[in-house]
Amino acid sequence: MGDPYQEKRQLMVNRHLKKRGIRDALLLEAFLRVPRHEFVPADLWEQAYADGPLPIGHGQTISQPYMVAVMTSLAELKPEHRVLEIGTGSGYQAAILAEIVSAVYTVERIPEIAERARQTLQRLGYANIHFGVADGTLGWTEAAPFDAIVVTAGAPEIPAPFLDQLALGGLVVVPIEAGHSQVLYRVKRTVRGFDKERGERCTFVPLIGKHGWERDPRTR
Ligand code: SAH
Repeated sequence: MGDPYQEKRQLMVNRHLKKRGIRDALLLEAFLRVPRHEFVPADLWEQAYADGPLPIGHGQTISQPYMVAVMTSLAELKPEHRVLEIGTGSGYQAAILAEIVSAVYTVERIPEIAERARQTLQRLGYANIHFGVADGTLGWTEAAPFDAIVVTAGAPEIPAPFLDQLALGGLVVVPIEAGHSQVLYRVKRTVRGFDKERGERCTFVPLIGKHGWERDPRTR
């Protein structure tokens, strides 16, 4: 069966990803395969391949495709990797990860959002994604260590459990609060400790939990 959105996806990859410097072939192929429209409400399908975030209910959003690509390339994934994602949201980032690596563990704190993502990803046939409904700032102890941890909500600082649950050589990619928006950080676990790099500015919904914000700072 033909996918009427295939052409739009190709345009999204060319305009929003390739043109802005995303080169990794495995990653670009993943963006061509994952039907982003299936991760948003039906009335937003026509906007699904523009380069912006979209609302998915409960005050949460599916991230902008370019930002999903940036985070995924910063994680330097290999097919044999096991990856933890914090903030399942629509499930789109989890699908992109699952196209590239062998196992994805994804955690969401809002049960209704987690359930919808689980249904979408199951319908699309992803068998290598494990779902957790919990405070993701605690990580996922039972499944640790991870080769990469991708955090798709903004934290006040890097939650310590993420560093503890990182394999040697593993990377955490996390947006950290910096004034009115956030800055993407990448932390690598080495034999000597942790190397921290600062990346580009970004805007994510808040990471709420024990090692995150106490409550949604947007409603303060
Ligand atoms: N990765 C998502 C984007 C998610 S938006 C996608 O591809 O669509 C961020 C999500 O993080 C929201 O759904 C929010 O509910 C969730 N979140 C916020 N704090 C969290 C926490 N402590 N643990 C797990 N999920 C959290």
